[in-house]
Amino acid sequence: MKLALLGRRGKVGSVLGPALEAAGHEVRGIGRGDPVEVAGLDAAIDFTAPDAAGENVRACLEQGVPCVLGTSGVKLEPLGELARERGLALFFAPNFALGAVLMMRFAAEAGALLPHAEIVELHHETKRDAPSGTAKATAALLPGDPAIHSVRLPGLVAHQEVLFGDRGQLLTIRHDTFSREAFVPGVLLALERLPGLPPGLTIGLETLLGG
Ligand code: NAP
Repeated sequence: MKLALLGRRGKVGSVLGPALEAAGHEVRGIGRGDPVEVAGLDAAIDFTAPDAAGENVRACLEQGVPCVLGTSGVKLEPLGELARERGLALFFAPNFALGAVLMMRFAAEAGALLPHAEIVELHHETKRDAPSGTAKATAALLPGDPAIHSVRLPGLVAHQEVLFGDRGQLLTIRHDTFSREAFVPGVLLALERLPGLPPGLTIGLETLLGG
């Protein structure tokens, strides 16, 4: 596919760009300050920043290009509405790592039997939004309104624990992302499925995976 990669110099973008090319895609990298010129491309991918991604995605949709959005902390509803109006797919996943999707699935299963849960999400110190999109999406799968604790420290990448407490026992479900390569297969899957998605917003890698 002919792709635009917004945020090409970022921590995710700099891993994703070469990986997309290695997978046979043609990549137009767009960084901060570059014009968002994407007309004629097959898809755009955005891993930028919460205050930039909304405008980026809007610009891409207005040029007729479907989008894969990874940036968290973005207001999705108006973008989904625009995508639907334009007859284009917009795919967002709070987490493109398959292991994290499984963590959320197992947490939902555990929460049905162990309803007392809290979430600890741990990320690198430059992550701007808190709590993380993954933590919020996990909380939405659990009973009640579980507390979310956010940790921001150098050395971390992206990590999450879901703790289920009950009398005399504790169940911990944990996922660790050690490198941004963890997000590559999920983005490739989203690109592969993008042409078959309905117009408008689709959320979550789990919607693309069977079972
Ligand atoms: P990062 O290292 O800060 O990279 C963001 C990049 O976007 C920077 O290179 C920045 O340019 C660039 N940028 C800023 N505004 C831009 C604009 N208007 N147009 C084009 N590029 C622009 O951040 P990151 O760690 O790569 O993460 C990026 C986003 O993805 C964050 O919101 C993060 O939470 C999210 N994320 C999501 C997932 C997921 O699985 N969904 C996984 C990891 C990260 P400068 O270098 O000039 O500042």
